[in-house]
Amino acid sequence: MDQIKTGKFIAEVRKERGLTQRQLSDRLMISDKTVSKWECGNGMPEVALMLPLCEVLGISVNELLSGERLSDSDYRKKAEDNMMNLMEERERNKKKVYLQIAVAVAVVLPAFALLMLAGLADLQTWLRWTLIGIGGFLVIGGCTIAAAVDIHTGTFECRYCKTRFVPSAGAYIAGPHTILTRFLKCPNCGKKSCCRRRLTH
Ligand SMILES: [Zn+2]
Repeated sequence: MDQIKTGKFIAEVRKERGLTQRQLSDRLMISDKTVSKWECGNGMPEVALMLPLCEVLGISVNELLSGERLSDSDYRKKAEDNMMNLMEERERNKKKVYLQIAVAVAVVLPAFALLMLAGLADLQTWLRWTLIGIGGFLVIGGCTIAAAVDIHTGTFECRYCKTRFVPSAGAYIAGPHTILTRFLKCPNCGKKSCCRRRLTH
């Protein structure tokens, strides 16, 4: 999917309809910055907004995703392409989630074993601390790798304006989180919220 093409298309159809960004965003009950962001090619409308957006603009979702008006003969082909693209993106992100779990297991288990050994076995002090050091190093390394993969797995969605974004590494690590949400500052509206993880952009 070509965000820039879709963005230009949204702007074009919106103007044809004589709507300002403000008027369009009001009808969708979202911030006008979000509309401006789409039109600049900095993000796709989230799935839940696609139908209402297309309704206001008088286009089909297929046309929205293709970024152009489609004739009947193009329609089917484009619909299939668009569906495949969406599925591929999901697939890629799922693989990343599995990779993350694999890294976590591969690193945390040996680290845990080392720390157990350091704590329980009758060892010389220097050896005990060496084991603790290696265990700690493994945990930190594993978390860093897992976070690096995680940060690029899909996007986070702002609770307020529904903007999707990839957080900076610093913001990501600092943000308290659950499995599905992370407390982040939205780059669009600037509000902080528990942003939901989304597997697509
Ligand atoms: Zn926001």
